[in-house]
Amino acid sequence: MSKKNSRLSAKPKKVVVERFWETKSLNEMSRTEWESLCDGCAKCCLNKFIDDDSTTDETELMPTTHIAEGEQMSYSNIACHLLNDKTCQCSKYEQRTVLVPDCVQLTQENLDDVFFMPPSCTYRRLKEGRGMPSWHPLLHNGKKSAMHQAGMSVRGKIIKDNDVELDDFEGYIVLWPLNDID
Ligand code: SF4
Ligand code: SF4
Repeated sequence: MSKKNSRLSAKPKKVVVERFWETKSLNEMSRTEWESLCDGCAKCCLNKFIDDDSTTDETELMPTTHIAEGEQMSYSNIACHLLNDKTCQCSKYEQRTVLVPDCVQLTQENLDDVFFMPPSCTYRRLKEGRGMPSWHPLLHNGKKSAMHQAGMSVRGKIIKDNDVELDDFEGYIVLWPLNDID
């Protein structure tokens, strides 16, 4: 008599995701749905700089949540020191707002701030009516490999903010965070 090894013969399960982002607005989504939209690219953990004429030597590198009309925001490849540069996940997610006070979490309540996010951010794409990107982990059984392969995450491109002098930020300004595909 032979014994069937069900573990070895089992086929990998394909997870079927309900495409709730096509039927609900961002404000109609449940908390779980909202959080699952985050693609985990970690571009929002990059330091950004605003070309602000009214800045002084004292305020030059202070955090801000305000951008005036006509001012331009530039991305750098300097990431928050708490970011895990391989997984692109926050290494202290639960304590992040205490450890990094200017870490801003996008919620349904502050959705108007979505323009601070990069063009490829899924929240921004959906808010602007551009739909879910083909590389999103929700469309790949929760895996991030398609996103990394498409070059849409920060993996392999960053330096940590505790390894650089922020005064020298101009040397770290980059354009790749502005890239978006499909
Ligand atoms: S940029 Fe948007 S989608 Fe990407 S990790 Fe940040 S919040 Fe999530
Ligand atoms: S505290 Fe975590 S989530 Fe916030 S910017 Fe840093 S790495 Fe990103």
